[in-house]
Amino acid sequence: MGENELEAFRLAARAWLAEAVPTLPTAPPAADLAARRRYDQAWQSMLYQAGYAGLAWPAAYGGRGATAMEELVFLEECDAVGAPDIGVNFPGQLFVGPTLIAEGSEEHKSRYLAPILRGEECWCQGFSEPNAGSDLASLRTRAVRDGDEYVITGQKVWTSYCAVADFCELLVRTDPDAPQSRGITCLIVPMHIDGVEVRPLRTIVGYSEFGEVFFDGARVPVTNRLGDENDGWRVARVTLGFERGTAFARGLLQLVHATRQLKELAQDPAQPTERSWQDATVRRALGELTCELDAVHALLRANVDRFDRDGVLGPEASVFKLAYSEASQRVGDLAVRILGPAALVSETLGGTARERTRDAFQALSLTIAGGTSEIQRNIISEACLGLPREPRAVG
Ligand SMILES: Cc1cc2nc3c(=O)[nH]c(=O)nc-3n(C[C@H](O)[C@H](O)[C@H](O)COP(=O)(O)OP(=O)(O)OC[C@H]3O[C@@H](n4cnc5c(N)ncnc54)[C@H](O)[C@@H]3O)c2cc1C
Repeated sequence: MGENELEAFRLAARAWLAEAVPTLPTAPPAADLAARRRYDQAWQSMLYQAGYAGLAWPAAYGGRGATAMEELVFLEECDAVGAPDIGVNFPGQLFVGPTLIAEGSEEHKSRYLAPILRGEECWCQGFSEPNAGSDLASLRTRAVRDGDEYVITGQKVWTSYCAVADFCELLVRTDPDAPQSRGITCLIVPMHIDGVEVRPLRTIVGYSEFGEVFFDGARVPVTNRLGDENDGWRVARVTLGFERGTAFARGLLQLVHATRQLKELAQDPAQPTERSWQDATVRRALGELTCELDAVHALLRANVDRFDRDGVLGPEASVFKLAYSEASQRVGDLAVRILGPAALVSETLGGTARERTRDAFQALSLTIAGGTSEIQRNIISEACLGLPREPRAVG
């Protein structure tokens, strides 16, 4: 797509958003996940009807068949007018859906993609377990074949939005005798069947965005398998490529916005700040962060180009994930430095100050979710730079 067409697309999106966003009701409180699901689904349905859902998804499955670059332009326009973020179906839209497109059978694509785009069905990602996070290949949740079904037993943890999800992209062990990563299978599991139980976990920001999921003899048909049996590690890497490479695009745009707001906060004498724009260290930190975020934006665009060319993202996705998540924490740290002790009682703050302190706490999770910074560095050094593998534990 040429520059002129991209600009025409931007202007059309801007015009539609200018009409649509003011019609939205007030967003529900963050802690009310059920209300958030209804709110997010209503917005998603509006996007779908206007042709702005699944911009880079194939038209045959309800998407627009556009490029990921157009999708990025749309996100920029959404950010400019404060349109809602994807919300509770973050996993479904940003990494499970794209995995279904890349790895699913025709039946999977016909069944699952359009309901995600229409805002009807939400997904979660069941990868991590109590003893398998960074070392994901050691996961133990078992699936045993029984005729045309898999019977699943085990536990997942930190499963984002599991309390409001309809389906889970679940990693299970199907061959306990194979070397770790070769005995894993990826299954599509409905969340509302017998043998699946969700227990919410409360986070530092005060609500239960993620939870534990227990499986006790849950049964799914063999046709719910994504990829071949024991080929789930490869499928999981496809999902993680999307999660690390492009899923945080809106998050990055919000971070740029937040950095601008921090500058305004520091410049406003009416705000309860401890440090202000008069402080040279604040001005320098804001300048450095602005440059850093420009560079992170360039990494995002490189991933978007790669996706438009190859349809999947490789280990290079980790470079963006690492840079974005660490920059988020630096923006959060600066917010806390500018606000001083007021940041510790964020409930008493209003407007921008309150949002920035909440984001500062939320940012703590970003260098863990989707794989920790240490793991991203290992991937970059081994898979991108070809450096020697880290020594494996013996015994
Ligand atoms: C907000 C949030 C949302 C999440 N959502 C989901 C989700 O939806 N689905 C899901 O499956 N999971 C989810 N997770 C889980 C996340 O993927 C794991 O927390 C992450 O992979 C780390 O695993 P762990 O917590 O078991 O930590 P561990 O793996 O126990 O790591 C502990 C520490 O050891 C370090 N470490 C471990 N191994 C190495 C190594 N080889 N080299 C150097 N350092 C190492 C780590 O970097 C870390 O600092 C989420 C996590 C968060 C915080």
